[in-house]
Amino acid sequence: MEKDFEFITMPKEKNIALIAHDNRKKDLINWAKNNINKLKDHRLCGTGTTAKRLIETTNLKVVAYKSGPLGGDQQIGARIVEGEINFIIFFWDPLASQPHDPDVKALLRIAVLYNIPIATNEATADFLLTSPLIEREYERKMIDYSKRVMKN
Ligand code: PGA
Repeated sequence: MEKDFEFITMPKEKNIALIAHDNRKKDLINWAKNNINKLKDHRLCGTGTTAKRLIETTNLKVVAYKSGPLGGDQQIGARIVEGEINFIIFFWDPLASQPHDPDVKALLRIAVLYNIPIATNEATADFLLTSPLIEREYERKMIDYSKRVMKN
């Protein structure tokens, strides 16, 4: 049977996108402060306001994309497709509706499609960041959906 997947090596230094909805920004900043020693070993980026707050409140270097409602989630999704982002910490607000809800959904879909680790709550973020895999290379399995789609 023809192989319909490949492995993509995630380097030791991960490219982590950090995103928090407004009601969760405080939580993400506290989480980042508590995990600063681990986060500093990786390349960080985030949606506009989240990145700005992280820069203001921690010593972390964070590349800022556009604000989420202005397309930042879509930019991060595109960077995943291009192979430039391979890890997401996303503290989203389960109680507030967002004007850019379709963008958020699209980002979650792209993360699943590209088999990117994604934490959507704090406990998962803790588990991900304390995984031994965060400190070493990881062979990420990428399904070649074009082959599967053509077969069905
Ligand atoms: P923000 O965007 O960091 O610019 O607030 C986050 C989001 O709402 O997706």
